[in-house]
Amino acid sequence: MSRFAGKTVIVTGSSDGIGAQTAFQFATEGANVTITGRRAQNLEDLKERIVKSGISASSIHIVVGDITNVDVQKAIVEETVSKFGKLDILVNNAGAVFDEPQHIGTTSPNAVDLFDKNIDLNLKSVLSITNIAKPHLIAAKNSEVVNISSIASLKFGRTRFVYYAIAKAGLDQLTRAQALELIPHGVRVNCVNPGMVESGFITATGLPDEASKKIYEYAAKHRQAFPAERIGVPADIANIILFLADRKMSYYIVGQCIVADGGSSLVMGASLVDLTAALQ
Ligand code: NDP
Repeated sequence: MSRFAGKTVIVTGSSDGIGAQTAFQFATEGANVTITGRRAQNLEDLKERIVKSGISASSIHIVVGDITNVDVQKAIVEETVSKFGKLDILVNNAGAVFDEPQHIGTTSPNAVDLFDKNIDLNLKSVLSITNIAKPHLIAAKNSEVVNISSIASLKFGRTRFVYYAIAKAGLDQLTRAQALELIPHGVRVNCVNPGMVESGFITATGLPDEASKKIYEYAAKHRQAFPAERIGVPADIANIILFLADRKMSYYIVGQCIVADGGSSLVMGASLVDLTAALQ
């Protein structure tokens, strides 16, 4: 059963990780999909993987470019509508953390630069491309926007990745504002907040693949921080994105931020310490 047959989807940041898996699942469930990111070869590889699974190459359109560039945002939307005739679903997934390995807190000499970079990619580009896409989403009727935030946005104190967390918290609030504004026009907007997911996310910070592997292995050993007993894989998040983009399944969810983190945000620091050990 092709649940997204006849639908046209844009997945930003689909050259790796969660976005690549999401684009793959939309394509194999019948949608025409625009895939986009800066790494052209990764996008070609994804297209090949989709075609090998039996999907026509004509269902996939590639746009290479930096999503923070307004001309690239316009190209993504306009080329999609010109190739596939309309736009039904926009997944704002592209994102990354900009920080310095040695940086703790908000007093780095590069604080404002780091703030700008995190905001430009994780928040401003979503605001901008959604506004560009808006008339097409409204024209398509019964259309959907899914923003990809993070549990970094939640109400916890942080001394690392502070500006990323600020950007993602802004994205949660943007989701609610967009949802209220667009629902009268037939466009639903929702958001997913993933916890730790094994992807290219750590290497994108500039660490080598080997370091990224070590961090995921280390995290996997600390099961007390992951009640679901493993860290996430891209399909864990892609499944929720497709659910939120499927009007038949999620029509009554509007403007919500759905946490998908294997329970890690439920585990408070104090609960990791067995206080009864003091009595032994
Ligand atoms: P990846 O690094 O695997 O993928 C990120 C994607 O975003 C890539 O396709 C990358 O493409 C694209 N991207 C990054 N910067 C730009 C840019 N300037 N222009 C265009 N595309 C860009 O990470 P994930 O799949 O894990 O991340 C996907 C989303 O999930 C992000 O929004 C992230 O913040 C969020 N998230 C991830 C978590 C995790 O633990 N993995 C946890 C919580 C949230 P390219 O490099 O080719 O440009």
